[in-house]
Amino acid sequence: MTTAARAFASLAVHAGQEFDPTTGAVIPPVHFSTTYAQDGIGGLRQGYEYGRSANPTRTALQTQLAAIEGGAHAFSFASGLAAEDTLLRAVLSPGDEVLLGNDVYGGTYRLLARVLGPWGVRLRVVDMSDAEAVRTAVAERAPRMLWVETPSNPLLRITDIAGLSAIGREAGALVVVDNTFATPALQQPLLLGADVVVHSTTKYLGGHSDVVGGALVMNDDALAERVGFLQFAVGAVSGPLDAWLTTRGIKTLDVRMQRHSENAVRIAEYLAGHERVARVHYPGLATHPGHEIAARQMSAFGGIVSVALESGEAARRFAESTRLFQLAESLGGVESLVNYPDAMTHASVRGTDAAVPEEVVRLSVGIEDSADLLADIEQALRA
Ligand SMILES: *Cc1c(COP(=O)(O)O)cnc(C)c1O
Repeated sequence: MTTAARAFASLAVHAGQEFDPTTGAVIPPVHFSTTYAQDGIGGLRQGYEYGRSANPTRTALQTQLAAIEGGAHAFSFASGLAAEDTLLRAVLSPGDEVLLGNDVYGGTYRLLARVLGPWGVRLRVVDMSDAEAVRTAVAERAPRMLWVETPSNPLLRITDIAGLSAIGREAGALVVVDNTFATPALQQPLLLGADVVVHSTTKYLGGHSDVVGGALVMNDDALAERVGFLQFAVGAVSGPLDAWLTTRGIKTLDVRMQRHSENAVRIAEYLAGHERVARVHYPGLATHPGHEIAARQMSAFGGIVSVALESGEAARRFAESTRLFQLAESLGGVESLVNYPDAMTHASVRGTDAAVPEEVVRLSVGIEDSADLLADIEQALRA
């Protein structure tokens, strides 16, 4: 059976993970060496020369990433933002514009507005889940790039990736999907027509809150060459141990995402029926405006649930009252976390178009027992 013919769960375990040919070790070793002996000047073995240009452990991760996203090329980086920065610099020139979703990771907005802005990159913000609004914005002025998160962070808005990709193709704009929340276990944007997938592998792909990393996956050979050159020339690569930990995390991604999603559905349904809750944002609920699209383009609805309480004060109190859900930034680990976006993850977008309402709390639902998680939420709502 060829690699391409295998299903997702098998690819996640096996792609790039051939046993070590010298010892038969089933788990490929972590290669820490920064340099490689040459058979005569320029006589490289399998292209390995120096750790920034290539490293076998990183190659293994990149092979695995390409396989699970159904892409031809993957690149891994020291962080999600390092991956984003490399992509933006590979594609954009001064004067180019990025059309960005209005509900994105705060650091993505900050990178574009405050780092690339001064270098001449222009930024416009639109509600990507509103196809009409996107069409109007694109018709006004053609952007070089459309950048979307779906489900979005933290309001879980859903964008029709196939529809957005069609708009981008027509306008000659590159369509970039940050697939951190859904992961390829639930949604594969390249197969839906997107040009590039971005990941913070720090979240679900690593999966255990113990390694920071990022990735880019794409099909286009010319774009991959530019990205590969910048990965080498700028050097924000993932280190060997980080790459190895991420690879280990990805092997269990499929089962973890199923459990995250099952637990999140239960919690979203419970919250939706609770008197202290003003609104639940979860694409798995039939009342969610993006539910139908999510049901079509995702195989399950993921592990993030956001909830609006009666006031900012109530939201803060809830976030400080859970016990099993630990108060922390980040998401996607096996342990449940609670985050207050307005003052934590999204503090950098306060007062901008991308600001998060102060009543909103974001839950990263872990893989613990769902009854324990529900009991914790119940006591925190009573607090
Ligand atoms: C965390 C995150 C990022 C940034 O990734 P880092 O690994 O923290 O640099 C980008 N996008 C989304 C959706 C994220 O959650």
